[in-house]
Amino acid sequence: MNRIPLFDPQAEYRALTERIRESIADVLDKGVYVGGTEVRNFENEIARLVQTRYAVSTANGTDSLILALMACGVGTGDEVITSPFTFFATAEAIVRVGATPVFADIDERTYNLSPSKVEAKVTNRTKAIIPVHIFGQPADMDAFSELAARYSLYIIEDACQAIGATYKGKPVGSLGHAACISFYPTKNLGGYGDGGMVTTNDEAIAERIRVLAFHGMGKRKYYHEAVGFNSRLDEIQAVMLRIKMQKLAAWNGRRQQLAEQYTNQLSHLGNLTLPYCDADIGHVYHLYVVQNADPARLMLHLEQKGISAARYYPCPLHLQQAMNSLGYKEGDLPVSERVARRALALPVHPFITDEQQQYVIEQLVKYNQNDKGADDL
Ligand SMILES: *Cc1c(COP(=O)(O)O)cnc(C)c1O
Repeated sequence: MNRIPLFDPQAEYRALTERIRESIADVLDKGVYVGGTEVRNFENEIARLVQTRYAVSTANGTDSLILALMACGVGTGDEVITSPFTFFATAEAIVRVGATPVFADIDERTYNLSPSKVEAKVTNRTKAIIPVHIFGQPADMDAFSELAARYSLYIIEDACQAIGATYKGKPVGSLGHAACISFYPTKNLGGYGDGGMVTTNDEAIAERIRVLAFHGMGKRKYYHEAVGFNSRLDEIQAVMLRIKMQKLAAWNGRRQQLAEQYTNQLSHLGNLTLPYCDADIGHVYHLYVVQNADPARLMLHLEQKGISAARYYPCPLHLQQAMNSLGYKEGDLPVSERVARRALALPVHPFITDEQQQYVIEQLVKYNQNDKGADDL
């Protein structure tokens, strides 16, 4: 059997090769490469998908976070509460706008930011909360909206891993003041390079992001109302993403099916803790992340059997060297630290066949039988 990779963006390309090649040729022939109709159409399609009034494209998900924070007026002296169990970019964006990231602990079962832990960290400097829909699973948005209303805070969703996911029937991307999406190649909707989007129902936020992402230039050409930067999606990425977007529901559906099969067939294993998801949550399984007492050893074992697995994320953000100046130490956020020590992502991308998955499950079952290291649960 071929190696089973953790992600397989090339398989997505193989499924759409002709259409993608033709669409690139069309853009090249038309001669508009930046700021054309493909980008506008793609923005409208994303807005329709996530059910917001506005969608503004950016160069990547990190810029989306930076722009959303800036558009909400977050800057020097402000605090933004977020999860330490996420990709570094979430906190990096907060630092980039001059604000201070404040990390609150996560829920051990969902890996998502815990609303009660967030509330305990609210101060009079808190300006926003960034809930991350980690691994494709929506965070507890009702609770965060309630906190936002009570303390007059902005909610910026980090939906970079969760496009297509739903929370109590509503699409992520529409659940806060603004939401950030990434089209990095391995994301559930991935381009062939970098790309991003911010979605919002707030016209002023959408307009500010448009202006900031284009050098702070307003309606009058070459007159700049703010110092922004250059953060754009190009026409070729947009046209390819429009094609791939038509497959998003089916591919997310396949991820959910694979996840369900893992959950059904692995739940009896004593050495694995499986991801938990509430019934009213539409998890899109960007990653299927289990917990094990020794994920490095399990990963190596799977690697030897031709199965790629990876640790997401081995070091929580409050313990990253780059965040030293914030003064956190080990033990401050025990749930995140424990999950970071135990988490391992199994392959769940939409091009895994049933046969391949059965092989992965078989290997996990065998490993469990021989696993001498008792779980520390
Ligand atoms: C990928 C990702 C980002 C950053 O997106 P880029 O497009 O790579 O800049 C931010 N947050 C999370 C949770 C991500 O997974």
